[in-house]
Amino acid sequence: MFQYIYLSVKENAHSPVRRLLPLMLAAALLLPSLPVCAEEEKTSETGFFLDTVITITLYGDTDSTAMNGCFDLLDEYENMLSRTVEGSDVWNVNHSGGEPTEVSEETAYLIETALYYSELSDGAFDITITPLVELWDVQSKASQVSEGETTEEALASGLIPSDEEIEEALLHIDYTTVSCEGTTVTLSDPDAEIDLGGIAKGYIADCLEEYLLSAGIESALINLGGNVQTVGTKPDGSSWKIGIQKPFGGSSDIITVVECTGESVVTSGTYERYFEVDGIIYHHILDPNTGYPADNGLVSVTILADSSTICDALSTTCFVLGLEDGLDLIESIDGVEALFITEDETMYRTSGFPED
Ligand code: ADP
Ligand code: MG
Repeated sequence: MFQYIYLSVKENAHSPVRRLLPLMLAAALLLPSLPVCAEEEKTSETGFFLDTVITITLYGDTDSTAMNGCFDLLDEYENMLSRTVEGSDVWNVNHSGGEPTEVSEETAYLIETALYYSELSDGAFDITITPLVELWDVQSKASQVSEGETTEEALASGLIPSDEEIEEALLHIDYTTVSCEGTTVTLSDPDAEIDLGGIAKGYIADCLEEYLLSAGIESALINLGGNVQTVGTKPDGSSWKIGIQKPFGGSSDIITVVECTGESVVTSGTYERYFEVDGIIYHHILDPNTGYPADNGLVSVTILADSSTICDALSTTCFVLGLEDGLDLIESIDGVEALFITEDETMYRTSGFPED
């Protein structure tokens, strides 16, 4: 949602095109099915899955088969991976009372991958985060908070959870209580619940890319609420240019641009889902150590890699780890680069993250 795509835009800061860019981007966003560049044939469809606005854009002369195939897959994965869809694999695990639960191979793979990143980050990434996600419920709080509300009032009304509630939730947050043997998932804490919100969109983006390539699509963009997966190159063979939004800026306020040919660019940012009380931002990326939204001076982390699953897991992980540990972690992983943006809008890149 917060990364935007440059379509055929030359990057000369003084060119008229650059000055017109905000308007062009606005037009592209408002009228997703109209080509910005007349000679580029494309089809774009937007939908709402996994609590997120998603847009798929296919370039070239395509019939509706590939697009329909993408939306069928989105449906399928939402019904498999959503915590709130009754009967999904995740729902079944969370309602098992600690009994072993059979899940699909894909769900099992995703849980195992998530557990790998939990171990790698010593629990900064933790899919048993659900009790805290429900307690903070940032999305609905955002519409409940009233203008000028004080912290005391927000605590009294339950908008901000109490320390006791947070302590209680923290008792059930521990990724080591999740075990996955083949396709059998067991929670050794019967009150624990998993949430794949920090990794599922990345996985789905990878699956959509694979599907589109197998359907013969050579040029496409998949945008799952800020998880951008590029497919191939632009129709003219040049690279995609993915704009990264300035934190808290307008939708056309781009802070930097990343060129991609088939890679994924994923951003986790405080400004994506949050509510504000007394000048404090309460956002949706939660620190399993404190029980509060991660508060370490970062406003966003963008990860660039071939795999969108890895990008998604690492963007959330690094956000919780903070600037120093996050940079160290990414430098230690081959083929992955990152851009960290702090509250004062300073950008910190890993050694291989492209400069503007
Ligand atoms: P977005 O969903 O906006 O793309 P992220 O990929 O950063 O953002 O994922 C945030 C989501 O991940 C939260 O909405 C929640 O469901 C889940 N989550 C929050 N904190 C953590 C955490 N520490 N570890 C794993 N998942 C988390
Ligand atoms: Mg993530």
